[in-house]
Amino acid sequence: MLETAQQFIRSAGKQLGLSKAEVENLLRVDAEHVFEIELANGKKLPAYRVQHSNRRGPYKGGIRFHHEVDLDEVRALATLMSLKAAAVGLPLGGGKGGVAVNPRGLSEAELEEISRKYVRQLHEHLGPDKDVPAPDVNTNATVIDWMVDEYSQLTGDTTKASFTGKSIANGGSLGREAATGRGGVIALAELLQAEGLAGKPVTYAVQGFGNVGSFFSTVAAQDHPTWRLVAASDSAAAVYEPGGFDPRKLADYKKQGGRFNNYPARQLPASELVALDVDVLVLAALGDAVTEENMRQVKAKYIVELANGPVNEAAQAYLTKKGVSILPDIIANAGGVIVSYLEWSQNRRDETWSEDEVNRQLNEYMTEAMGELLKTAKHGDISLTEAAYILAIDRLLN
Ligand code: NAD
Repeated sequence: MLETAQQFIRSAGKQLGLSKAEVENLLRVDAEHVFEIELANGKKLPAYRVQHSNRRGPYKGGIRFHHEVDLDEVRALATLMSLKAAAVGLPLGGGKGGVAVNPRGLSEAELEEISRKYVRQLHEHLGPDKDVPAPDVNTNATVIDWMVDEYSQLTGDTTKASFTGKSIANGGSLGREAATGRGGVIALAELLQAEGLAGKPVTYAVQGFGNVGSFFSTVAAQDHPTWRLVAASDSAAAVYEPGGFDPRKLADYKKQGGRFNNYPARQLPASELVALDVDVLVLAALGDAVTEENMRQVKAKYIVELANGPVNEAAQAYLTKKGVSILPDIIANAGGVIVSYLEWSQNRRDETWSEDEVNRQLNEYMTEAMGELLKTAKHGDISLTEAAYILAIDRLLN
């Protein structure tokens, strides 16, 4: 993922006429905090916070708990955050954090211990005007609430603007949970409109029917009734129904802990979802979902990158040449950071906005960013990914 992001930055830098030194400067991170969290049982966990750039505002980005977290991954994700915030016009920079731990085997007390100790070691580098973390893979509002509490005890800060993704009762924003999926719907609608497909029947498949994938589908069902969800997958299996699923039913099933290998519908191996004959492929699971291994199987004309880096560089080149439009992650999945920004803004002003108001502002940011993206791509006769990087880097530097 780091290599793919760096390649796109290098090639956008070239098109913008940047010198080699300017490009290298963009790739460099401002600061890396690498430390160990020592648990009461003596176990030591590697922990990271990378602050890529604060040129546009405080560092912003999630903290993930995952056994595969390493410095390279955190660097790549921090860089993507700077670009994402710039691409959608937010006054924020980019950062990312992580702890290398598998949270599945942990008790709630251990999870709380890790969350609090992470903040204890890092608090001097965090704060509403310095670095504002959020939840990411395997972290949630409960983890963030512990972190906010620890941060307040250590620093006396009472604004709660030091973290976003808090529970609603603790200063979180309405609309945050659905924001990334909703943002993806707005982005795809803008793309389809530009292609003359507004209001036309469109079939789509969702890889990774988790938080982002399921909200994408339920919001789409409400706002775009002509879009038809024909397949969805989780890590166990894909389910396929050419006549279309009711996304709300699938979302309820997943919310209750169901796995698709037990769902009463036609089953396919999870890996076969990308090969289905649909108009739009929505990638909402993991990075590197489409690579040299499976890119030739893709039949969709449009791909929406809701995960970070789900189509690697080689697959991007191949698919773009074939005429597939790939809606790039740094804009397609920016709904989450946009509403994080709205949460931070509410906390700083000591205000609480309605869900409609949050959604209205989300819509404004996404529509504006998509307008710029489509204009830049058309003007330069370049792919949407190239255009997104050019847009983001130009904003990051100016
Ligand atoms: P999640 O854990 O709720 O959902 C992920 C889903 O993907 C799960 O249903 C899981 O079973 C499925 N999955 C895992 N491996 C799979 C595979 N090989 N094939 C098919 N499905 C598979 O996570 P989420 O919050 O929905 O995030 C999804 C992706 O979007 C992640 O890559 C995340 O980094 C990215 N993202 C999330 C947000 C956000 O606001 N949550 C914002 C930006 C980007």
